[in-house]
Amino acid sequence: MQNIRKKITVQGQVQGIGFRPHVFRLAAEYNLTGFVYNFTQGVIIEIQGSEENAEKFIQRLKHADKEKPLIKIISMDINNIAAVGDEHYFEIKHSQAKGTVSAEVTADIATCKDCLRELFDKNDFRYRYPFINCTNCGPRYSIIKTIPYDRPNTTMSAFAMCDKCKQQYENVEDRRFHAQPVACPVCGPKIYLCDTKGKIIEDDSNKVISETARLLKEGKIAAIKGLGGFHLACDAENDEMVKQLRLRKMRDDKPFAMMAGSIEKIRRFADVDEKAREILQSIESPIVLLPKKEPNTIARSIATGVNTFGFMLPYTPLHHLIFAEKNINALVMTSGNISDEPLICKDDEAIKKLAEIADVFLMHNREIYRQVDDSVVNIINNEPVLLRRSRGFVPQAFISKISADADIFAAGADLKNTFCFVKKNRLIVSEHIGDMEDASVYKHWLSSIEHLKNLLDVKPSIFVCDLHPNYFSSQYAKKAKKDKLIEVQHHWAHIASVLAEHNIDEKVIGLVADGTGYGTDGAIWGCECLIASLDEFVRFGHLAYYLLAGGDSAAKEAIRPIMGLMKKYNFAVPQEILDEIEPDKEKRFAIQQQIEKNINTVQTSSLGRLFDAASALCGLGSRNNFEAQLPMALEAMANKRVTECYPFELKKENRITIIEIGNMLEDIAADRIGKVAKGVISAKFHNTIAEFFLALARLAKKETAINTVAVSGGVFCNKFLSERLTELLQNDGFNVLSNRLLPANDGGISLGQAIIAARTAKKG
Ligand code: ZN
Ligand code: ZN
Ligand code: FE
Repeated sequence: MQNIRKKITVQGQVQGIGFRPHVFRLAAEYNLTGFVYNFTQGVIIEIQGSEENAEKFIQRLKHADKEKPLIKIISMDINNIAAVGDEHYFEIKHSQAKGTVSAEVTADIATCKDCLRELFDKNDFRYRYPFINCTNCGPRYSIIKTIPYDRPNTTMSAFAMCDKCKQQYENVEDRRFHAQPVACPVCGPKIYLCDTKGKIIEDDSNKVISETARLLKEGKIAAIKGLGGFHLACDAENDEMVKQLRLRKMRDDKPFAMMAGSIEKIRRFADVDEKAREILQSIESPIVLLPKKEPNTIARSIATGVNTFGFMLPYTPLHHLIFAEKNINALVMTSGNISDEPLICKDDEAIKKLAEIADVFLMHNREIYRQVDDSVVNIINNEPVLLRRSRGFVPQAFISKISADADIFAAGADLKNTFCFVKKNRLIVSEHIGDMEDASVYKHWLSSIEHLKNLLDVKPSIFVCDLHPNYFSSQYAKKAKKDKLIEVQHHWAHIASVLAEHNIDEKVIGLVADGTGYGTDGAIWGCECLIASLDEFVRFGHLAYYLLAGGDSAAKEAIRPIMGLMKKYNFAVPQEILDEIEPDKEKRFAIQQQIEKNINTVQTSSLGRLFDAASALCGLGSRNNFEAQLPMALEAMANKRVTECYPFELKKENRITIIEIGNMLEDIAADRIGKVAKGVISAKFHNTIAEFFLALARLAKKETAINTVAVSGGVFCNKFLSERLTELLQNDGFNVLSNRLLPANDGGISLGQAIIAARTAKKG
């Protein structure tokens, strides 16, 4: 029979995850000769054999992700080429380093089942070895300096493989074939325990682990060097230590994430349904927000004012070893940093900065090249929704129908910053960077841009940023721009992020529920209905403007939006409630004067601030010590069985629909005085927001005949609101799109900016 030969170019997530051995095995199965090798844009395969077998091979390859879940094929080019004579086997060739570097670098992946089995197998030569890994798991993005993804380009270059490891590394039949971080107790990285001066106090691997566990149980705080950075850990059932940790870390009331050894252990403290279990055990292994079980033995101060716990499972061999020790039920595992500074990943910096916080350091000598925070997932509408996208997900690209003609850099927003590069049809969003007002975060941002730029080999000539003139990110983009600068309105970017995520290029009704975004009229927008595509947007409707007495505390003190709303709607909040929210009468008078005389105030349609006001009127506090503390407390209260809502009005003003909510605020205050249950007030408030968004969408549909609604903005991290609104819209026949793989908060802004820039550049 005639032999045919095909050349197949595969792009996507195909390097460093056992793709070539998989191809090798397939070729053997179908009696094909030829070769496979990595090149900088992916993998090239040539196969030769019978037409039937070649076809079967291609079909299997197309669905490779079913057999190896880390494989993600984005494109496959198949060409017939001339058959060659004298070829008797299939081989894996060496990587080719030249050419344009754009192959996917993969994310850091949690320890796989096979490695876990070996970790606790007394007969395995990696028994209890804290760095066991294979092509299906282990560090990637956090250790890679440049591509292609080969050992010399990672921080594993410091370790020379022993014969045993090398044998596995070179054996195509082995699970560790070309597993770049492969190592064992003889040749690989080691763990050790240090005191707060960095002096080694224990270096026997097993003793290091048992000693760490003992100290934690005894009530000590440990800094543990992990995969993408340091964690600060303490016993999650020890309230005194948790309080100590807050104090030393200068961390306000913001909930701490925890790690427990197994699903069963987590179930002692929180509800884990099937969906949650699946996400907790996924290869990305994120922190998942789970409903608290009451009563529970978790320290009170871990998560006050919310009805969820953030839990994750062990995701490195070292974690598994710690949790295999007796007595450790759950540990606080919070990022190793001070206050809002970037996560620390270097040893010397950790000792320098965390010595005041940690009593002991569990270190290892595998360098972390890039810090990557833990990702955070909430379950909304029974689907995982990312609140923070980092470890396990970055740097996986979003693929677009639109292919950019030039490389693009999107700067993102100043809060919860991520940035994004565009290369052709691939949009690569960075890991979570943080809030730029902190100088060290800004510095970290700059170095992260350089790193990712090199890793992806992008040379951006188009720069895109937020419309906000005072954002550090905008100012950077303006200075750095080469050919072109594009400024994108914040909420348009939010909606575009949904379109990019779903790879949709059409006009939609955009509903935005947000805290702060600079509007085209200089006001602070936040509760918007936009008719938007990737080309343009029109503001269809918004919450009626109210005056916000400015300064940094506008987003912290609920009294500020309350007094602005009182002025706007000319309603009085009962004295006793006002006294409770802001006892300082002089301060209240000053804010009132500010509003009356319009000094240092802004017009705003912020929904975030309306949430602050409602929470305070409801009696849930008066200050956001961390972002969205009050709204989160309000959400935690909401009674799901309540379906009523408060009154609202829609008015047309200059062709824009305005939402008026004065009556709602009066009713909330009255309900409070009338001692209506907080859970009822909260639910009615949430329902009102959902109802007026529905009403806006209906009006927009009537005028435009558009049936697809995209929802985005930080307030949609609120599960109650998100689920209510989705239900209302779907019951009304709308097609509803929302953020899933990307946060609805400002972490998603850079992707929205990027896709708009890609489209704009296309038009020239
Ligand atoms: Zn593995
Ligand atoms: Zn070895
Ligand atoms: Fe926003």
